[in-house]
Amino acid sequence: MTAQDPNILNNLALAIGQTHTARAPEFISEEAPFDDAQRQWLNGLLSGLHAIASAATAAAEPEEAATALTVLYGSQSGNCEALSKDLRKFAKTRGFDASVAALDDIELSDLGAINHLLIVAATFGEGDPTDNSAKFYKTIMADDAPALPSKLNFSVCGLGDSSYADFNKAATDIDRRLEELGATRAHDFVGCDVDFEDDYAAWKTAAFDSEPFVAAAGAAGAPEPVEAVAAFDKNRPFMASLMTAEALSGEASAKCVNHIELSLAGGGEDLDYEVGDALGVWPVNCGQEVQAILAATGLSGREPVKLKSGPAQLRSALLTRLDLTTVTPKTAEVWEIETVGEDRQVIDLLTAMNLDMSAQQLVDGLRPLQPRLYSISSSPKAHPGEVHLTVGEVHYDLNETARKGCASTFLGKRLGSGGMVGVYVQRSAHFHLPNDNTVPLIMIGPGTGIAPFRAFLEEREAREAKGKNWLFFGDQHAACDYLYRDSIEAWGENGLLTETSLAWSRDGVEKVYVQTLLEERGQEVFEWLEEGAAIYVCGDATRMAADVEKALLRIIETHGGRSPEDAQTYLDALSAGHRYQRDVY
Ligand code: NAP
Repeated sequence: MTAQDPNILNNLALAIGQTHTARAPEFISEEAPFDDAQRQWLNGLLSGLHAIASAATAAAEPEEAATALTVLYGSQSGNCEALSKDLRKFAKTRGFDASVAALDDIELSDLGAINHLLIVAATFGEGDPTDNSAKFYKTIMADDAPALPSKLNFSVCGLGDSSYADFNKAATDIDRRLEELGATRAHDFVGCDVDFEDDYAAWKTAAFDSEPFVAAAGAAGAPEPVEAVAAFDKNRPFMASLMTAEALSGEASAKCVNHIELSLAGGGEDLDYEVGDALGVWPVNCGQEVQAILAATGLSGREPVKLKSGPAQLRSALLTRLDLTTVTPKTAEVWEIETVGEDRQVIDLLTAMNLDMSAQQLVDGLRPLQPRLYSISSSPKAHPGEVHLTVGEVHYDLNETARKGCASTFLGKRLGSGGMVGVYVQRSAHFHLPNDNTVPLIMIGPGTGIAPFRAFLEEREAREAKGKNWLFFGDQHAACDYLYRDSIEAWGENGLLTETSLAWSRDGVEKVYVQTLLEERGQEVFEWLEEGAAIYVCGDATRMAADVEKALLRIIETHGGRSPEDAQTYLDALSAGHRYQRDVY
């Protein structure tokens, strides 16, 4: 279309409310190659378009903008990450426009530019920060951490477990340190226990109701349209049926590790999972343990009790709703006991102290039963409609009495074929296969740490991925602890596994651990890293994962010719590029 098309242009000009006859602002210079009529006409057209554009811009700008808010999380199993997204949505209804990131994704120097900050941080292991907040924690705790401005208004919510001595330590430390460095605490720290929902909700409302937040709130936006809520989640689990529970470890083993297969038939796409995700499992307590508690308290089990979730009968509450093991400070408070002592479980207290209590007092002193998260050990491509787990049964002696883990023995022993169990998929944001099927993988998973790597290998096979795969596995004895031996050997033979390194810790005179083999093959491991390999570690957090990390750093120093500081920088860069991922517990 040119200025020579008078009809089309006339219509356009009319449509936008301008005509040749109206005197319009001058958009076309005198020098432009148009006659007067064309110039006037074009000026009219452009003026009209300009008016429309200005009106559209004005309409897009709300009278009062929302206030910027930063939400940071430290998450290990995904709970704090999910809560930070909930905060972002809630913020919108309170006049804040929130950006969400992991604590390690922000530099301390960037905090100075923020006016409003909310942190949800989990404490992990022995009072430690999570993997995605460890760097932030280290920097903020350092003596040379920079001062923060008082205009930085913050509030911290911690997620922890009150049965640990260092309850919510990482989050408490962050809260204290932010204030020490000069920032303003807008609302007090709240430390949540494993049943965090109510305390978190109260903290969220109170933080936004605090004076520095109310004073700065901008225009509240409409709540986001309600997302299609997943049909199954922690509070609305899918009832899966047990297809298989078979021992992977041999009779001579000191351990009993079970391969569990559950049917997800009828669950639909809400139960679609990816390799690397975890499965939340609601256990049912052992009937004998319930009976022992009833015997120790002289209660029948038929007494009605009130729980947070509603009324129930005592026996059923003890079976399906309450944690029968863990003693917390609240237990002592509600049962009016002076000291609970270390290494005592609920049944020890009840039998030793001969406590006379009502059914309601008994349940009020127990904490709610929580689901357990297990790394999924199957690929949905290899086993559609099913999910597999690799679960080591927990058995130990305490005060000269045999004890057992509730969920691991429920799945392995009590559930039984065809039995129903409540489950949900817990997405893992930080432990996933690369989409690029050519990336080489180094997978380090001794013991039950093998679980996600069975899933990874099944997935790589189903995808016909061309990338190399190197598995480091091990346990006590080759003869009885070689989990998934048939599959691993078959993958070695068909070439899916380029390398398999097996560390049997109790077969020789000297202990051989996965990191022993990693260092023996250090040159090749470094070459794989230089080729772009991604390293995954799964299993015991406190001992194995820490020692594997030290071995990796030594390999980078020795074979990469790096100083200790540069080796750390190299590993940090792998981590930041999602090429060093851990699923440790
Ligand atoms: P596991 O206890 O991790 O044992 C698997 C293999 O790892 C064994 O051969 C074990 O050798 C070896 N191992 C022990 N210390 C190690 C280290 N520092 N570095 C590398 N390898 C090491 O596996 P699991 O029986 O499947 O247990 C799975 C989970 O149970 C663990 O990941 C953890 O969560 C929990 N667990 C924790 C502890 C703990 O004290 N933190 C203890 C047991 C289990 P040896 O046993 O011969 O030394």
